[in-house]
Amino acid sequence: MKKLYFFILMTINSSGIWAQTPDNQPKTFVYTLGSATIKVVVYEQNNPNQITYFNLHDNENTSVEATQVILKNPKNSGKLVELQHSGERLISFEYQGAKYQIDPNRMFTKVGIEKNLKNYGNYSDAARDTVFAFGQKIYRDFLQGSRLIVAMHNNKNEGYNVKSYLPGGEYKTDAQDVFYNPKWGTGEFFYVIDQAHFAFFKQKKVSAVLQDPQKVTDDGSLSVFAQNQGMAYLNVEAQHGNLKPQIKMLTILQDLLQKIFAK
Ligand SMILES: [Zn+2]
Repeated sequence: MKKLYFFILMTINSSGIWAQTPDNQPKTFVYTLGSATIKVVVYEQNNPNQITYFNLHDNENTSVEATQVILKNPKNSGKLVELQHSGERLISFEYQGAKYQIDPNRMFTKVGIEKNLKNYGNYSDAARDTVFAFGQKIYRDFLQGSRLIVAMHNNKNEGYNVKSYLPGGEYKTDAQDVFYNPKWGTGEFFYVIDQAHFAFFKQKKVSAVLQDPQKVTDDGSLSVFAQNQGMAYLNVEAQHGNLKPQIKMLTILQDLLQKIFAK
């Protein structure tokens, strides 16, 4: 099934331009960042409430599968936007004769982009600016206007997990509040920027991290950008391969969406 899905995409995309496809078929849009080609694959299942599920790390495929399962249920609705480039987490590109690497979840603020490029090797102001322009294009074309952005992520549950935000954890200063339920394991948690979302997940006994709007490090990530812009945003983290738990999390999220949009 998966092979067929990719075959269809490649066929649709062979013209390299905006593709017309029947309803409920993914549409592919092609962008460039320096020498790199980035495909943006969009799958939409109705979308009366303008909910955008967004996968930007190309190696985090469990999160894509979980979203597809949820959107295939006719009771649910939303749009899935998926960045595809190399199958890797990072985007590698050449620009003005030099090589760069960027984490696509660090491309939404100039401060964050600078730190990120330096972290992976070469840096120039010109490269920073072209990454920023690319990030803003993706934001304008696929995210702006959404009534909720749901970032879909997977982690290895090694260095980074919900405990990273607890006392003693590497990112504890980024969090204003943490609810940790060990029944979910440590890789599965919601990362949110809205107090009401945090309260909802805590009441549902799912692990959740509430970003601290003042103390959070400007790392250029979408959660920081969303908070700066006043956008509704949350992030669904699950360990790679933990498809069922991530589907369960998205099912719980549908209850929150009902609550928000039933008004
Ligand atoms: Zn990710």
